[in-house]
Amino acid sequence: MDHFDAIAELDRQSVLHPFTYLKGHASGEGPVPVIIEGAKGVRIRDARGHELIDGFAGLYCVNIGYGRTEVAEAIARQAYKLAYYHSYAGHTTEELARLSDRLLRMAPGRMSKVFYGLSGSDANETQAKLVWYYNNLRGKPAKKKIIARERGYHGCSVIAGSMTGMNFYHDHMDLPVSGILRTGVPHHYWGAMPGETEQEFSQRRADELEALILGEGPGTVGAFIAEPVLGTGGIIPPPAGYWAAIQAVLRRYDVLLIADEVICGFGRVGTPFGSHLYGIEPDLISVAKGLTSAYIPLSACLVGEKVYAVIEEATDRVGPFSHGYTYSGHPIGAAAANAALDIVEREDLAGKAATRGAYLLQRLTQEFQQSPIVGEIRGVGMLAAIEFVADRAHKTRFDPALKVGPRISQAARERGLIARAMPHGDILGFAPPLVMNEGEIDEMVDITRAALRQVTDELVAAGHALA
Ligand SMILES: *Cc1c(COP(=O)(O)O)cnc(C)c1O
Repeated sequence: MDHFDAIAELDRQSVLHPFTYLKGHASGEGPVPVIIEGAKGVRIRDARGHELIDGFAGLYCVNIGYGRTEVAEAIARQAYKLAYYHSYAGHTTEELARLSDRLLRMAPGRMSKVFYGLSGSDANETQAKLVWYYNNLRGKPAKKKIIARERGYHGCSVIAGSMTGMNFYHDHMDLPVSGILRTGVPHHYWGAMPGETEQEFSQRRADELEALILGEGPGTVGAFIAEPVLGTGGIIPPPAGYWAAIQAVLRRYDVLLIADEVICGFGRVGTPFGSHLYGIEPDLISVAKGLTSAYIPLSACLVGEKVYAVIEEATDRVGPFSHGYTYSGHPIGAAAANAALDIVEREDLAGKAATRGAYLLQRLTQEFQQSPIVGEIRGVGMLAAIEFVADRAHKTRFDPALKVGPRISQAARERGLIARAMPHGDILGFAPPLVMNEGEIDEMVDITRAALRQVTDELVAAGHALA
């Protein structure tokens, strides 16, 4: 047993990994644990020296790329100066005050204040409490239900996990809790009726949302939460007209809009926030991932003027705002975020995501739209996906047991590329660091082509796909 085998063995015996087949991992029959040792730019390196292009920026989060020493230095500087103090009862640091001001200036809509946590899940957990608190304080204690979408992803804590619309996040874990309602996913490719335009389909989704609110009673519905571009549910940009139609319904029934910008925020879709791109005017915004480019954990809830005014005004009656974490507004997180956002702004990573994302989508379309097993190629900014189908003409899915998406992802990995098999359907997802250049995009496309060819050949040989 060499040194790395020994580390892998320690891991098997001691770590409970997320999203891992526990038995195979513990017994050693599953995939060999991958020890990640270092990373630079868009590439990660394992302990045995293998390099991989990270076409998913970790988990859509390392937007500025790996190894940016100026962020490491900002973290170190703050740690030497003041590693920690809390932000309760009006305590602050210079980094925290500067970050908050900057977020309010970057954000869409009319945002008033920023609350901090450590993860996207806890940010959405806080949003739910803000919705309940707001409606209690303005004398509408029944207006509490939160509508989320099928295949939306909002995290995996208790309320955020309940808002997430994928059953494997719920099964055997007593989720969803009550008070969470579900509305349809805006995916035109699968959801539209024959001949239905994107505009018509968007309007139908909005009509369904309205029917749901009326059926429940508008006096019981507090908020609607959604990602500007649906992420983990399959990387699905909204169809034309979707956000305008949805927001018209929400305004009609005084339902707050929570924009979950955990993936879209800070340039990924080619604008500072996803809300800018789609004309969304949120009441509450959640951010995490790109906030520090994952150099250290940090999340935030941006609280709009409408909600904030009510909760501030109530202080005399109800006392201090009684919600917060030990690590809310952690000074090292704030310093890391400021340094990461300096890079995002200085290098115009939103602008780069727009132009290079367009290049990525054009390359994927040009290379793969004729493939017999490709149903749809879609994307916006530095988010893209290829969805595989057994029969293009009849739009039929592969038998899930064939694991087509995971096999293509694995074939790419064996050739040096991480592209994620999205958990719902046969979808290969791309969300590279925003610093990825055109040469690196070409490399990614070349590897994808080889991986797709291998799996297509296997499927054709086995009679599961048409040649
Ligand atoms: C990742 C993600 C979350 C959850 O963030 P964690 O930091 O993993 O808790 C929430 N919303 C969206 C849209 C995400 O992509």
